Amino acid sequence: MDVIRKAPQHGWIEVVTGSMFSGKSEELIRRLRRAQIARQKVQIFKPLIDNRYSDDHIVSHSDMRIASQNVKTSDELVLRVEEETEVVGIDEGQFFDTNLPAACNTLANRGKRVIVAGLDQDYLGRPFEPMPQLLAIAEYITKTLAICVVCGDPANHTQRLVASSDRVLVGATGMYEARCRHCFDPSLATPK
Ligand code: ADP
Ligand code: ZN
Repeated sequence: MDVIRKAPQHGWIEVVTGSMFSGKSEELIRRLRRAQIARQKVQIFKPLIDNRYSDDHIVSHSDMRIASQNVKTSDELVLRVEEETEVVGIDEGQFFDTNLPAACNTLANRGKRVIVAGLDQDYLGRPFEPMPQLLAIAEYITKTLAICVVCGDPANHTQRLVASSDRVLVGATGMYEARCRHCFDPSLATPK
């Protein structure tokens, strides 16, 4: 008897996650560029909160850039994705609302390749929602590490250098650096 197979649908979720300066944006841009070169239809989004360098581009710390659209919520993101789009790139996933995993699922179920980059931990080393929930449902996970600026070990932490208890403190250069678990000191960021 012949085996009856469903036609492949091609949708899945990839997550690129790690500390600041670990190369998440570079890796996201690399994957999206390759898709564009292969003439796939690509749409790229970032949350409105992050306007550090450029309003309509994702920009890495090494100045790689790619055009993007700003969205306020993950629901808005889903609405903006066009029928013909094959690849959806999302940067700064940690700044999205808790609906991001459901939004990515919706898109992947519609056959889109969804690639999300984002911080896995906040400035105190706590899992940064909604990234943990997204990691749980992703098909592919890439963990990126920076280099500890104090000792040179692999850096898994984002060290905040100014005292502030705001979880989201989007800032200028010099406010954060990459550190390993031994050199990471959350008390530096805690107001006295
Ligand atoms: P992320 O999106 O994870 O914050 P980016 O992709 O924007 O990272 O930037 C990665 C780049 O940051 C590296 O290629 C390098 O040029 C630069 N960089 C600055 N500090 C460090 C560090 N401590 N370790 C590694 N790369 C660093
Ligand atoms: Zn170190």
